[in-house]
Amino acid sequence: MIITDTGVPETYIATDEWGAETMLRLDDGWCAALDRETLMCSIYENRPWICREFEMGSYECRVEREA
Ligand code: SF4
Repeated sequence: MIITDTGVPETYIATDEWGAETMLRLDDGWCAALDRETLMCSIYENRPWICREFEMGSYECRVEREA
């Protein structure tokens, strides 16, 4: 969920019926800003706050990658 303005381009934002903004997901279920070739963030300097807080290599990270 996008809760602060970090400059995420509009094209990567989905807005639900209550006005909440999240990163748009493509049909594969992954974030629209993810570079499918490199598996790196294509908007790294403008990524949402939650992406900055999510610890790389944490338990949650490893579970998601294994899934
Ligand atoms: S860090 Fe990952 S989830 Fe966050 S915007 Fe970039 S590609 Fe999307």
